Amino acid sequence: MPEWLTIKTHEDRSTDDFVAFMCNEYQRAQHAPAPAIPVLVGNLPEAFARVDHGRWIADCSTGCGYAVMLGRNTSLFLCANCDVGWQRVTWPRSRTNIEIELLKRPHDIRAEPEPSTRNWVPGETLADLRTENADRGIF
Ligand SMILES: [Zn+2]
Repeated sequence: MPEWLTIKTHEDRSTDDFVAFMCNEYQRAQHAPAPAIPVLVGNLPEAFARVDHGRWIADCSTGCGYAVMLGRNTSLFLCANCDVGWQRVTWPRSRTNIEIELLKRPHDIRAEPEPSTRNWVPGETLADLRTENADRGIF
């Protein structure tokens, strides 16, 4: 499937397991073993999934500036930049419909492989996306 027909995740660029990838990133950056993978995620800080240039990413909940392309179905995020540790990933309930609206937008060959028109942030509604699309003649 051509890259511009999906909103990309970690699995589109790597065959490594996402959680193992995050642990390796932490170890490389912090020169220390990654914290133990939590069994329960309910009390962890919350990192929100968003779409940035056609990729599902999350930013560290502390605002330290670290962000990573998310695993397709991950519920965990480990910041490699600060000591907050594991965070739980909150995905939008309307993820599939968000992807449908964003994928209607034309692929910008100059931005390949990261279509610059495909962005979504928490709080932005499907109606918002449809209005943005309609304003550009995309239905
Ligand atoms: Zn951080």
